[in-house]
Amino acid sequence: MKSIKRITTLFASSEIYPFAKSGGLADVAYSLPRALSSLIDITVVMPLYRFIDREKFSIKPLGIEWEINLSGTLHHTELFGCRYDGIEYLFVYSALLSERDYLYGPPNQGYTDNALRFGLFSYAIADLAERYRFDLLHLNDWQTALSALLVRENPGLHTKTVYTIHNLAYQGVFDHRMLLALGLSNDYFTMDALEYYGNISLMKAGIAYADMITTVSPQYAKEILTKKYGNGLDGFLRLHRKKIVGILNGIDSKHFSPENDTALLMSYESETLRDKSINKKGYLEEAGLKGAGKPLFIFIGRLTAQKGVDILIGSLQKIATMPINISIRGEGEKEYRDRLHLLASKHTNISFSYGYDEAMSHRMYAAADFLLMPSLFEPCGLNQMIAMRYGTMPIVRETGGLKDSVYPIDDFDNERNIGYGITFTEEDSFALSGAVENAFERFSHKRSFLAVLRHNMHVDFSWKQRVKQYVDLYSAVLGEERIETKSLEKRDHE
Ligand code: ADP
Repeated sequence: MKSIKRITTLFASSEIYPFAKSGGLADVAYSLPRALSSLIDITVVMPLYRFIDREKFSIKPLGIEWEINLSGTLHHTELFGCRYDGIEYLFVYSALLSERDYLYGPPNQGYTDNALRFGLFSYAIADLAERYRFDLLHLNDWQTALSALLVRENPGLHTKTVYTIHNLAYQGVFDHRMLLALGLSNDYFTMDALEYYGNISLMKAGIAYADMITTVSPQYAKEILTKKYGNGLDGFLRLHRKKIVGILNGIDSKHFSPENDTALLMSYESETLRDKSINKKGYLEEAGLKGAGKPLFIFIGRLTAQKGVDILIGSLQKIATMPINISIRGEGEKEYRDRLHLLASKHTNISFSYGYDEAMSHRMYAAADFLLMPSLFEPCGLNQMIAMRYGTMPIVRETGGLKDSVYPIDDFDNERNIGYGITFTEEDSFALSGAVENAFERFSHKRSFLAVLRHNMHVDFSWKQRVKQYVDLYSAVLGEERIETKSLEKRDHE
């Protein structure tokens, strides 16, 4: 019998929960490697930002130090490590990359030297691939994309690369002079390499040089090939379309679990869904809202155009006249922040709190009846899956991963392992208001409403199914047969 070789993979990300998080990437970079670790040998690497609590996570120096040469300037770099939740983490420390208060910059601003910071990180990743001879490098977003080029251009290195696009809107676009500052020759300043409308796009390094590209939902994989969703890269992506695969993200079903979530006032499961109302009462008090009998609509997310905040704000005036409560939590652009504060001060049934608070978001998912997600585009979106786990019905615009994970409630079929919610297509406040009215109507039909919530709570949004697709992909990239198929099947029955 052919012996089973475990693939050795280095998974690289600029943010990983719980060390540093700005959005869904951190959740995925935490939960996907964990899910993969029962099938392959996986090590995870991220920058050691100075705000990461080294003591709390027992992050220790590994005694490996080297210089990274960026265009003649040597950057002293050190490797740190820890084991957390069964996973080996490596941390790259270099003053340029690490000595900052924020990951990418203060709110709404990127540090001006981010090209160098994450260029440095990408060099470090490629060095680690060489030092430890990993079979495969799994890179995520523009901050690690340059490693694909560096690995490909290293003739002595046989490491293969998979590059995941979590959001095409963030491409790492910088002045073309950065190319030389990154120690790369002008030969890369071409349309089929890094040139991007007179600048350079680090995202393009991942697309051009990785062996395979994944993105975080099948629908988004199709959308990014179109002008509307392609962020100026649709033509380039069409050129590389044979390398692109869409794999829907999963969520960590232990971290997002109403049965034993310590952030909640009262845990519950689908059989005891009524206990959700205890969380609702508690949260209404916390948010200064009244009327536990009224449906509670929540919005949680970055305050940015992508998330449909204009659509949300445009509809609030109207939907606030309905007998409902609306609670909004987010962090992001000042203009949105000011407008939401103003609306909340005018309407007693709207609450708005600014900032990032993981525990509070869990309490909101547990308290709410509906989650609003009017995104203009959504590569995958995790909120809708988390909401369904917590028995909260998502109201989503049919785009990207929202379309792949929330099916129209009119087609409800209790036998199917898919989630249901209220969906709409138009990008306007009118469509969202209509969806809220529809939700209000559904809410009044308690029995059928609860049946859908209970169904959604049992849908498998975990990584279990998805990791098979990743391992198949890794195996294909490495040119080996489905090395792990047998053990995958076995594990499924465990
Ligand atoms: P993004 O585009 O921001 O990555 P995702 O839907 O993929 O969006 O992931 C968002 C994650 O961040 C979810 O876990 C969501 O609950 C969480 N989140 C977003 N904003 C906040 C906030 N202000 N406070 C707490 N959690 C938040």
